[in-house]
Amino acid sequence: MASPDLFQNVAFSDVSAAAVPAAEGATAAFGVGAATGGPRLSLVKAGKPEVEPTVEIDLSDAQIFKLGPSEWLCVCGESEAKAGVEEKSFSRAIKVVLRTEAESKAFSLAFQRWKQQVISGKTGEPLENGSIIASKSKFDTKIEASSAKMYFHYYGQLLHQQNMLQDFVRTGTYYAAVMENRCDFAGRVVVDVGAGSGILSLFAAQAGARHVYAVEASEMAEHAQRLISGNPALGQRITVIKGKVEEVELPEKADILISEPMGTLLVNERMLESYVIARDRFLAPDGKMFPTTGRIHMAPFSDEYLYVEMANKALFWQQHNFFGVDLTPLHGSAFQGYFSQPVVDAFDPRLLISPPTYHTLDFTTMKEEDLYEIDIPLSFVASVGTRVHGLACWFDVLFGGSNVERWLTTAPGSPTTHWYQLRCVLSQPLYVMAGQVITGRLHLVAHSAQSYTIYLTMSAKMWGVGAEQGGILQTSTGKLELKEPYYRLSQPQSYMLSQDQQQQQQLPSLQPQGSEQQMQEGLSPGITIDQVDQECGLH
Ligand code: SAH
Repeated sequence: MASPDLFQNVAFSDVSAAAVPAAEGATAAFGVGAATGGPRLSLVKAGKPEVEPTVEIDLSDAQIFKLGPSEWLCVCGESEAKAGVEEKSFSRAIKVVLRTEAESKAFSLAFQRWKQQVISGKTGEPLENGSIIASKSKFDTKIEASSAKMYFHYYGQLLHQQNMLQDFVRTGTYYAAVMENRCDFAGRVVVDVGAGSGILSLFAAQAGARHVYAVEASEMAEHAQRLISGNPALGQRITVIKGKVEEVELPEKADILISEPMGTLLVNERMLESYVIARDRFLAPDGKMFPTTGRIHMAPFSDEYLYVEMANKALFWQQHNFFGVDLTPLHGSAFQGYFSQPVVDAFDPRLLISPPTYHTLDFTTMKEEDLYEIDIPLSFVASVGTRVHGLACWFDVLFGGSNVERWLTTAPGSPTTHWYQLRCVLSQPLYVMAGQVITGRLHLVAHSAQSYTIYLTMSAKMWGVGAEQGGILQTSTGKLELKEPYYRLSQPQSYMLSQDQQQQQQLPSLQPQGSEQQMQEGLSPGITIDQVDQECGLH
């Protein structure tokens, strides 16, 4: 085809207008409307010059529906304003018939591309091959529109991208993983799944990628385009595509996917599902994924101070005379409410009372549906006699490069990341003796607000002589909402000062934003989370 935006010999008819005959041998052309400056589709009858289109469709409010292998229905809004008369709005439906199925597909791609004004590596020009499909995507069917709107609005802001970029442990580990495995990138086609600012695409280009498709759904795509254009030596090998990985089309298969889809507890935000969908849609057989696998680590912990702090928050509702009102009827709900918030902070690993266990997610083989419900059986042996206040969790991911295998960890005691760690606190602690077995279940159930409900059960088994015959002594359960964490970062954490590695560092919660000097010194920049981050619980 001479131009991907021009279709010859099409037939079209205005099905919303009575008695208008179909036009045969017409031309369909996508372009920018002279009057509106926005994208438009012109349908020009044979013989008429293009400057005088027979039908002009404003793509900003138009949709297409597939009628057959090579037939489409374009529906658009139209309004008629006559002097002194109220403006009338109505819909117009135009049937367009292409010559072949191949042309029909190209037509729908061009339609969506112009409609979405997909941006490309070359400023001002539309992307040659990337496009968006018309039907409701997997993302839209499982995620509430209001949640998605807030989510992409959040990531559309540079300050949140900056927060992630300044997590030196995170960004530095990605950089190292890419650079140590140049052989996996050099000369290869890469897809950056959820490119954000485009940083990982630029890393991939630095490692010699032949071409990188940076797919980003939020308004950040425009900033990424600017960043990439401003680094032309790398940018000429990067194409930014604005859209969801569930929806965009790419012109070729990728040799490797790179992404940072991890949220709190690894799975928050449900972006791992998009990562797996991107694998199925874009990755060539035997292609690689960076990261390759992820693990959720878990261990029981004892933290009396934290427990009392949480229980005390509900004490407010114990008042019998608050301006003459008895608040106690709500104490129980308030108490449960506080314990339904997972606690996010950096804690001393000495609070763990058993060696941790982990649950592996293999991004290269798992099904997207495997992430809808994650059921993890728990079994630990208490190493001390104590009160168990709940389950501590963190995650790591592996970059399984051909040359070097590198882990990015968010473990307690390791350099702090902006994910910190997560603790599910039980409203009823368990008492255990050294050597006693703690069993239970961590059951994560995904919901349409891009997060999970956490169902935790922990039981202390019978202990000592005759334990084999004995059953469960105590059980405690909790239901927590991963989307509503309690960011507990304001109090100084005295244990950190006792750790050698922390000696030259300030406490994360007290540090200013990472300075360039800190970056050069290779120190953790000191992650700061602003209020919005804390409220959203995003990564
Ligand atoms: N890769 C960047 C940004 C990571 S944050 C970095 O490492 O710094 C995750 C990004 O993925 C956000 O910008 C978010 O808008 C984007 N994203 C999340 N789900 C997406 C989806 N389904 N399709 C496209 N982009 C998505």
